[in-house]
Amino acid sequence: MEIRIRDLAKSFDGFRALHGVDLDIASGELVALLGPSGSGKTTLLRVIAGLEAATGGHVYFGDEDATTIPVRERGVGFVFQHYALFRHMTVADNIAFGLSVRPRATRPPKVEIDKRVGELLDLVQLTGLEKRYPTQLSGGQRQRVALARALATEPKVLLLDEPFGALDAKVRKELRKWLREIHDRTGNTTLFVTHDQEEALELADRVVVLDKGHIQQIGTPDQIYDEPATPFVFDFIGDAS
Ligand code: ADP
Repeated sequence: MEIRIRDLAKSFDGFRALHGVDLDIASGELVALLGPSGSGKTTLLRVIAGLEAATGGHVYFGDEDATTIPVRERGVGFVFQHYALFRHMTVADNIAFGLSVRPRATRPPKVEIDKRVGELLDLVQLTGLEKRYPTQLSGGQRQRVALARALATEPKVLLLDEPFGALDAKVRKELRKWLREIHDRTGNTTLFVTHDQEEALELADRVVVLDKGHIQQIGTPDQIYDEPATPFVFDFIGDAS
């Protein structure tokens, strides 16, 4: 799904978190939103998802104005910063959540939900752990459950907020490679937020650099690396968002 963002603004009690953002994302692209803490990355992601209402401007999914599409019908999968799994539910029930909460008329039969959960467990390499609870998993495994849950409804757009932020360096590296593989297999239009430039440059097709609610630069990882528009691109390594 192609996404077009036009003059998008968001204010919180008069504080402008996003100033007239314009951005085009092609169908099937993997795009990183990179910037220091407080630059508006999460806000942009949440407005695209419909979790926050814009104060001005538009987000189009294909030819449709996304604000006219109810949030549940936007076809967006969202992975939150700290997994946000349901603690009292098993891995399988967490993954099935997006399917099993649908109204009866559009809810797939249980055998189909079970089949889909089985496929997703396979995709995220967690087969055998379906009866565990989130507290019995490592951070990396929890994040893979969160991703499987987001993919369960076959979203056209996948949005990830600092998906690997809470993990150690080794697990981050593995999950990065694996997110790329899943992206290439599913073909979702994917946006992920990171304050880690190495992650953005290594993983994304294109990088969008945000600062203080403005887009500073858009380019391929090579372009951003060779000609950073703002020196901070190379200053904020290690800045814990
Ligand atoms: P980032 O994801 O780049 O760290 P955010 O999008 O979370 O940045 O925040 C951008 C700015 O908007 C910050 O100054 C933040 O304090 C402010 N902000 C974000 N969400 C809210 C909110 N719900 N209420 C008030 N201010 C907010």
